[in-house]
Parts: sequence; structure tokens; C-alpha cells
Amino acid sequence: MNTESTEAKITAWLATQQQAMLDVLADLVNTDGGSYDKAGVDAVGARIKAFCESHGLKVETVKGERFGDCLRAILPHEGTAPTRGNHAANIVLMGHRDTVFPKGEPERRPFTIKDGRAYGPGVADMKAGLVMNMFVLAAFAKFGGAPGPMVGLFTGDEEIGSPEGRAVIEEEARGARVVFNSEPGRPSGNVVTGRKGGVFMVFDIEGKASHSGGNFQAGISAIGELAHKIVAIHALTDLERGITLNVGLVEGGQSVNTVAPWARGQIDLRYVKPEDREEVMAKIHEIIGRSYVPGTKARLTIKGEFNALTQDAAAKKLFGLYQGAAAEAGLKVEGEFSGGCADSGFTAQQGAPTICAVGPVGGLAHSPEEYLEISSFVPRAQAVARAVLRLEQAGL
Ligand SMILES: [Zn+2]
Repeated sequence: MNTESTEAKITAWLATQQQAMLDVLADLVNTDGGSYDKAGVDAVGARIKAFCESHGLKVETVKGERFGDCLRAILPHEGTAPTRGNHAANIVLMGHRDTVFPKGEPERRPFTIKDGRAYGPGVADMKAGLVMNMFVLAAFAKFGGAPGPMVGLFTGDEEIGSPEGRAVIEEEARGARVVFNSEPGRPSGNVVTGRKGGVFMVFDIEGKASHSGGNFQAGISAIGELAHKIVAIHALTDLERGITLNVGLVEGGQSVNTVAPWARGQIDLRYVKPEDREEVMAKIHEIIGRSYVPGTKARLTIKGEFNALTQDAAAKKLFGLYQGAAAEAGLKVEGEFSGGCADSGFTAQQGAPTICAVGPVGGLAHSPEEYLEISSFVPRAQAVARAVLRLEQAGL
């Protein structure tokens, strides 16, 4: 097989697709799809499915119960390829379809283009990455040359911690050869080679109500207990090790003249090293289990979680391969560490060599100013395509 000419064909074809990419992107951005809007996230999925099927890919749907379905766009491979378990290992291009925006946002703020940048809800995070993945898959379907089976995984609930998507992602990762996660490239153009892990928790405290004027001593203040717990939890922060704790939401109480019968806090824990998670979680459990105000009781619930993205030897190889491929597309790319979490942590912890933020470059995600650098669309797609073609040479 003449991979050089396949590479030339694929990169040349991608170079002609910028307008087509923008057209699909406009459709996806203008389709509402906040994480809790299953119908919307699935409508975005229907557009992706139609595109993939019309470009020679087979699309499988893994039904989501409360959140968007997961879609697997499959490009099979004939011939030998490295295996994982008892099947050929998949080259996975991954991305999430949900956004953080409330219903109606695309109507208020539809897709627009100004001075080389595109705007609209989720334009960079990460609908442009989805479109890039779709076009890279379409290119391999059209010209062949992939060194193994490819899968485009389009999930539906990343912005809320992937409560349903996680199992599908982990299953995919266990059979993956490599994973490219197309979160937006950093404003500098860099990709992400390390991310913090995160645990999102809520704790509920039970006290006892009583009139704070007439019967003060009969009360047990859940809010008093909440205050102690917040101080103790925040004290677990260790900036040098990259461990942070933030009680970002609190509520509780009944009225100003009632000793508070209940209180609640929500905790965001971030860490760098997977082993630090257990150590900090043990301390949090101890704080939640202890009663600073005698008579209170408390309970901790984990609401969501992301694993840390760590870089093993194979992931380092993948980064080196990508960096070289990007350079040929005219991009200077370094690896950055991010405190933000993403699905790439799940794939890395399943042992799949993973690189994150290979999507088109953008910034100010989760805000109305979110933008995409249009000129990065084609070269970022070419970089991923080239990296895929050279997996074997890189020993991946
Ligand atoms: Zn994202």
C-alpha cells in the first residue's frame, strides 16, 4: 500500500472542505443541546449520524436513559492490525455533543462568523471537534489507508461528568489502540497531555429544629456543623501537590429564628495523581463522619467524577507522533497541563494511549464570548489524519 499517496490525497481533500465543515458546524451549533436536554443532544446526534452514513460509515447507537445516546461511527478494516483482547484494536476519535448552555441559547445567539472567528453555543467546546472527527472519518472512508479499524465515538453528557457516557467510553477504551479526544485546542494551539481528576460531591447534614428565641437549647444547628465542615474540607487543599477543595454551593436552614434542622454543601475535589484521590477521599469521609456540633449527622454522596489524564510511555509516543504530524500541517504544538477535567481521563485510566484537545483551536468556552479560530479547522483535521496514518511507524 502506498501510504504516501493516500496521505497526500487525504490532506488535499481535507484542504478543500473548510466551507463544508463550517456548514455542518452551523447546523450543529444551531441545534439546541444542553446536557439535560436529551431530545436536543439526540437531535445533534441525528445530524452526525446522517452525515456519517452518507459518507460510508456504519453508525451504532448505544441508548442513553436520561441523557443523550452514544453514537459509534464505525469504519471497519480489512487486513491485519494490532489487537487488543481478541479483536483488532480501534483507532478512536472521541467527542461530546452536549453543551453547558440553557435551552433556547442557539435561538438567542445563533452561529455567526466575524473576522475569521466563529461564534455560538458550543462552537469550540466541542462541536467543531465533532465536525473535525466526522470529516477525518469521512476522508478515511473515501480514500482508505487507515492502519486499522476506526471508531468515531460521539457521547452526550460530558459537561455533567458523563454519568451515562462513562461506561460506554471505558468499554471503548479497553478495546482502543489510541484515543484522540477532540476537545478544543488551547488558544495557543497547544494540546492537552495531562488533566486533573475531579470528584463532585454533595453532603447533607441533619440537625434539630427549635425556636431560636424560646427554646434555643433544644436545637441542634446543622448550619453550625456545615461551617465547621467547610473549614475542615478547605484545609485539605494542598496547592503544591495540585490538590484543591472547593465547597462551591451551600444551602440550609428554615428561618432566621429557627435553629437550622438541615444544611447541605457541594464539594469539588481536584487532584493530579490518581493515588491522591484515595488519600483525600478518606479524609473527606472522616470530616463528614465526625460531628463538630454534637447530635448532628451527615452523609456524603458522589454526584459525578472524572479520572485524571496521565501520560504513560505510549501516550508520550502518541504526543510525539501528533506533534510531528501537526508540524507538517504548519502547526507548532506543545503539550499543556489543564486543571479542567474531560472524558480523556477515563480512556487514559483504562490504559488507552490518549491525547486530548486535538480539536480546532478556540477559547472562552462556557461563556457567550466562546470562539473558534476558523483557520485552524483544516490543519487540525490534517494533523489527526496524518497521525493516524503513521501509527505503525510510531510503534503504536
Ligand atoms: Zn468539552
